[in-house]
Amino acid sequence: MSKTKFIFVTGGVMSSLGKGLASASIGALLEGRGLSVSLQKLDPYINIDPGTMNPFQHGEVYVTDDGAETDLDLGHYQRFTNSKLTKKNNLTTGQIYNSVITKERQGEYLGKTVQVIPHITDEIKSGILAIANGNGGVDVAIIEIGGTVGDIESLPFLEAVRQLRFDLGKENTLFIHLTYVPYVAPAGELKTKPTQHSVKDLLSIGIQPDVLLCRADRYLPEDIKGKISHFCNIRSEAVISAKDVEIIYEVPIVFHREMLDDIIVENLNMWTKKLDISHWERLVDRWKNLSEDVSIGVVGKYVSQKDAYKSLHEALWHGGIHNDFKVNIVYVDSEEIESGGGDVVLSRVDGILVPGGFGKRGFEGKISAAKYAREHNVPFFGICLGMQMAVVEFAKNVCEIPDAHSSEFNENMPNAVVHLMEDQKTVSDKGGTMRLGAYPCSVKPGTLTYKAYGCSEISERHRHRFEINNTYRDRFQQGGLRLSGLSPDGGLIEMVEIKDHPWFVGCQFHPEFKSTPLNPHPLFRDFIKAAIGYKSSRAD
Ligand code: GLN
Repeated sequence: MSKTKFIFVTGGVMSSLGKGLASASIGALLEGRGLSVSLQKLDPYINIDPGTMNPFQHGEVYVTDDGAETDLDLGHYQRFTNSKLTKKNNLTTGQIYNSVITKERQGEYLGKTVQVIPHITDEIKSGILAIANGNGGVDVAIIEIGGTVGDIESLPFLEAVRQLRFDLGKENTLFIHLTYVPYVAPAGELKTKPTQHSVKDLLSIGIQPDVLLCRADRYLPEDIKGKISHFCNIRSEAVISAKDVEIIYEVPIVFHREMLDDIIVENLNMWTKKLDISHWERLVDRWKNLSEDVSIGVVGKYVSQKDAYKSLHEALWHGGIHNDFKVNIVYVDSEEIESGGGDVVLSRVDGILVPGGFGKRGFEGKISAAKYAREHNVPFFGICLGMQMAVVEFAKNVCEIPDAHSSEFNENMPNAVVHLMEDQKTVSDKGGTMRLGAYPCSVKPGTLTYKAYGCSEISERHRHRFEINNTYRDRFQQGGLRLSGLSPDGGLIEMVEIKDHPWFVGCQFHPEFKSTPLNPHPLFRDFIKAAIGYKSSRAD
């Protein structure tokens, strides 16, 4: 049997209470006590993965090194812990059913009637156990169950973890339930009823939570904790205030103040060293004492759904703190730039970032943003589609190819400077078929990119179908576009820079996925540094 202990994190009352952040913060606390952790998200939807979902609905698709398109909570896990994230760390109902149905077709169930219990639940259980064993046997696996208790969709997941408590024993499993304790201003009271009801819902399916994380706008007073304890059969010390915080990296600090890590290790009967979270405390302290800020315009199509740019938002913030500046992110709808007035907004920011994206809508606005940055010497960072649009702009206006285009938006234009990769031309399935996951890249010495990374061999994560067209290499270079990063065989253009510009960098990959607050990504760090330089040059 595996030596790994399991923590199951469920959510009640309503969504958006921060279950992903709570799980990631628990991971940070346990790592701070010297334990190794792995985190996994169980998603109740029927899609195999979120890769085919609209960002407006689902938010960002987080990509792992091994090329899995996963839920954005995995990004939180990466930013808070050293947990190694792979395909196995995000399990969906779609994947579970897919594998059960495949086994059924292959006759593996030997004539049995295939049912939710035990076949679906067994498949879920083996998916959960796989992350514990798969990572060389971590000390603690934290399993976040998506959805809200009471939803029909998540029932098989809850049944599976209920069974796991029985299979693995009480000392090896812990149930943590996140709820909401609203403060009702007219009554001047914190209300515990929603928490009581949501614990009842859990009890009705056979799960008694061991710990409650109570999301509230304040620390819960002892009498409220006592009341919750009494009604929910939970020790008062295990009723934890999950108080709202100014910045997300404060969550582990709040949890520790409430002694959550002590309660966890005590319940799981684990002996660990004393907690060290001084790095999180220093980080939060540093942030709270920042007095200056720098404005970055993010020009995209999904700006009304901030979750679509989750990792990007964090990576910009990481770059800021490293330079001792707060980053003020100004989201600019690329369609608004198209309908005029873009220059006014862009003239107010100190750096322009065009992130990744798909589809035709708003692409002209992204091209205009790149043009503005190039012509006005504003620091520019183009990521994936952002780099592709910057290259189209450069081809049009510097290399004098007026009909330069990307074949993603217009298949019939002759000068497709961005075109479909050869091996994509025969692909018809949409799910999991892009160029996905980590690829090595060779960085050219003497470039801004080399200066940022400080080395020539890097590895970054990709998620795209289109590439810069090699036919135009000479013309790009003659115009002053540096091909600063190539695939190791030289066949693919992975990064570009504009020679005569203070900081204009494009990359085909997504650096935001690898940035963490304690280890900011070098490109974001240097982009923010350039934006700070631009801001001060404007003030002169
Ligand atoms: N739509 C572009 C492509 O598929 C860019 C993708 C992205 O920005 N992630 O190549």
